[in-house]
Amino acid sequence: MGAPADLAIRGASQIVTPVGPAPKYGREMERVQVIEDGGLAVKGRKLIYVGPSSRLGDWIGPRTEVVDATGYTVLPGFVDAHTHLIYTGDRSPELKYRLKGIPYQAVLEAGEGIYATKWYVESADDETIYRETMARLDLALSRGTTSIEIKSGYGLSVQGELRLLRLIKSLQRSHIMKVVPTLLALHAVPKEVERRTYIEQVVQELLPKVSEEGLAGFQDAFVDQGAFTAREAIYALKAGRELGLVPRVHAHEFSREGGVRTAYEVKAISADHLIYAFSDDIRRLSSARVVGVLLPASSLVQRPGEHAKARGMIEANMALALGTDANPVVKVCNMLFVMGLGCLLNGLYPEEAITAATLNAAYVLGLANTKGSLEAGKDADFVMYEVKNYLQLLQQFAERVPDYVYCGGRLVAEKGRLLIRTS
Ligand SMILES: [Zn+2]
Repeated sequence: MGAPADLAIRGASQIVTPVGPAPKYGREMERVQVIEDGGLAVKGRKLIYVGPSSRLGDWIGPRTEVVDATGYTVLPGFVDAHTHLIYTGDRSPELKYRLKGIPYQAVLEAGEGIYATKWYVESADDETIYRETMARLDLALSRGTTSIEIKSGYGLSVQGELRLLRLIKSLQRSHIMKVVPTLLALHAVPKEVERRTYIEQVVQELLPKVSEEGLAGFQDAFVDQGAFTAREAIYALKAGRELGLVPRVHAHEFSREGGVRTAYEVKAISADHLIYAFSDDIRRLSSARVVGVLLPASSLVQRPGEHAKARGMIEANMALALGTDANPVVKVCNMLFVMGLGCLLNGLYPEEAITAATLNAAYVLGLANTKGSLEAGKDADFVMYEVKNYLQLLQQFAERVPDYVYCGGRLVAEKGRLLIRTS
């Protein structure tokens, strides 16, 4: 037994968490640990004990802050595996386009969509983009997300993408949340340069610079109709991989246009969206151990009526994670809401949704050693909801925000209100 804890949580109705190695594949996703009358102890930023309250006493000293969690359910801090959080500008008119059935590709061709955000970002100063993105991180943290990915992708030029990654880097340094940057230069084909020229610029100039400055550990590419082809994405993702950037792919959001093929050919850590992934696609992803990242809030907004089908993926032993896909048109940052949609739209079971929003998402972001589950040795990132059990919580997915959010052992938000943002 070591020194007493700084903080102890005692008497929780339930502590609910996946445990053990990540990711959890297929039916393993349903196996979460549920500790009734649970307790946990924190020393510094780390968990030193997670288990029944009855054995917590050993860790409590005269200076330990003890929190009575009677009536609360405790979960790991959420991990949002997929966002486009860095942007500025108003794209609310697109809601109406969608309702009128104007396809995404037509919006793009009219110079709106991603191109509109590129223009807004180019026209704004760093300070504005930084401040707005910081506010989005604050909101996500108050909703219980303690680790989050942010993609670039609205620069669409060597200098534009570097600028966004450098801004993400400064947010990463100052915000208490764990921020994971991803290069998404292959988001849309820029209008100013020929597509082949752009891809060469990305491979020859941008990737070496990103690697040299340590601006991102991941590279993503949007493979679909109106975006990039599998051949283009494979070329850029393989070049990135040589420089240490782990590949990810936006795959099968609008069509079966090569996204899955790209993911298994480059051995991507994840294939995201997967609305149009059919059984042979799923088999390929499963055999290549590519994690499927489902984004139900995004499909709800962007593809009404069309959703990724999780049951077939789980039957095929795929590991699944969840993300918000927060972006200029998907204004969602509450992972509990996404978990509820994951159940109701994608067919995840509640326990699978919990694993997908915590440990499996942490695995996708390369964080599974420190984040994504409540186990001794990991970071003390957790959320507390005043609710008897996790099934009741999932039922209330549209309403609830965490009553308390802890990040690195510190209380950072209370009842949806942020208390601390800097590390
Ligand atoms: Zn996306």
